[in-house]
Amino acid sequence: MVSAVSTLAPSQGRSTAVRWPFGTLRPLAILLVVLVEATAIALLALSAAGTEEANGALGLTALLLALGIVHTEIATGIERIRRRSADTSYFDLSSVWTFAAAVLLPPTSAALVILGIYAHLWWRVWRPAKVPLHRHLFTTATVLLAAQAAHAAVAGSGGLHDESGGAAGLGTIVLAVVVYALVNTVLVALAIVASTGRVERATVLGHGDDNVLEVATLCLGALAAIVLTTRPVLVVLVLPPLLVLHRSVRIRQLETEASTDAKTGLLNAAAWRARAEQEVHRARRGRGAFAILIADLDHFKTVNDSHGHLVGDEVLAAVAGALRAEVREEDLVGRFGGEEFVVLVPTMARDGNGRRELHAIAERIRRRIAAVSVTVDTPEGSRRLAGLTISVGGATSAADGADLDRMLANADTALYAAKNAGRNTVRIAGPADVPAARRAG
Ligand code: GH3
Ligand code: MG
Ligand code: MG
Repeated sequence: MVSAVSTLAPSQGRSTAVRWPFGTLRPLAILLVVLVEATAIALLALSAAGTEEANGALGLTALLLALGIVHTEIATGIERIRRRSADTSYFDLSSVWTFAAAVLLPPTSAALVILGIYAHLWWRVWRPAKVPLHRHLFTTATVLLAAQAAHAAVAGSGGLHDESGGAAGLGTIVLAVVVYALVNTVLVALAIVASTGRVERATVLGHGDDNVLEVATLCLGALAAIVLTTRPVLVVLVLPPLLVLHRSVRIRQLETEASTDAKTGLLNAAAWRARAEQEVHRARRGRGAFAILIADLDHFKTVNDSHGHLVGDEVLAAVAGALRAEVREEDLVGRFGGEEFVVLVPTMARDGNGRRELHAIAERIRRRIAAVSVTVDTPEGSRRLAGLTISVGGATSAADGADLDRMLANADTALYAAKNAGRNTVRIAGPADVPAARRAG
């Protein structure tokens, strides 16, 4: 399965390793973990007691296990050379081997391959990355269950061996890919819901690219399985495209890094603008009205002056987190400049209520920031900083048309009005607030 530990924002990627928070587990998550692991063990015990003959599969079991281990070694080696830095980032594409094992081997032998590959991954990748063991065990259990399900799907449709060259063989292998991916996706999604309580589609089902990558890996697994039944030596040809897949993941990671503000994890100004322009086009095509908020921390310079810039940075990160948490997932939140943030709310009522709705959103943000408190380490020990305030200016496209620059200018004017009104205040531009020069244009 696709999994990674990354220094990027934790919402990226579909795997448990990326999005399952490191903190303590909720009771529901513990229940799910115990249930999934117990089911994996029980099914394994059942198949061990079953009739499928494992003896003849010894060679293939050893070969798949060796390929999985060699793959991990080459991939981590390349990642280490490429990174030349301390951050932890590894993408686990071992499902190519675990899938091949699932469709070719009796369940107990496939389980041996999976347990071997995952024990090795733990030793080489996840333990040094300080991923909690319970999470790795859960991932291993989901792979065991996905493999059991894929094996059952192949067995139920008559097996691979005779017809893998024909349409029936294609149907069988595609079914196995779908079943394997589905079991994994559902179990990972359940783990995310149970551990975070979040049910947004993007959080639970993951980034589209991750799912494409997972399917591409499973397709390589399917090709590996078919080659192994006919010309086993040719299976080494799977390794080069697999290593290129690792690189494609790295490219996506770099794209994300390029659009992220490192201090706050929000979109940087350029990326925010690019995404905002897309939303404006969508709004112009008639999907509806949208709105802009610009928020600027009040007297932030005094935080720096009193506690230093490093503490200031921590405060900025805390404010960014609070802001992100206060708005909906589809709202675009960016860091505009130093201690200025910008939010695009892509869906607003077009009638006269848009301004009121935006005012309510801005007020929620203002109150949320006023409640932020940050514990920071200072030479005198740890201290709690509170009492931050923010001023917010807003503009709706219902009032101002759908030109992004004009709306930004209007929101900025409203922000100045909020500052002039004494700070810790919200102002939303109306048609009357449009600067005279612009009104004339
Ligand atoms: P106002 O209420 O008028 O907005 O007052 P202010 O002090 O927030 O505004 P001003 O624009 O005078 O100062 C902004 C400060 O934000 C100055 C700068 O030191 C600080 N700042 C900007 N970017 C960063 C950053 O990345 N980290 C830290 N620590 N401080 C920053
Ligand atoms: Mg300020
Ligand atoms: Mg400022």
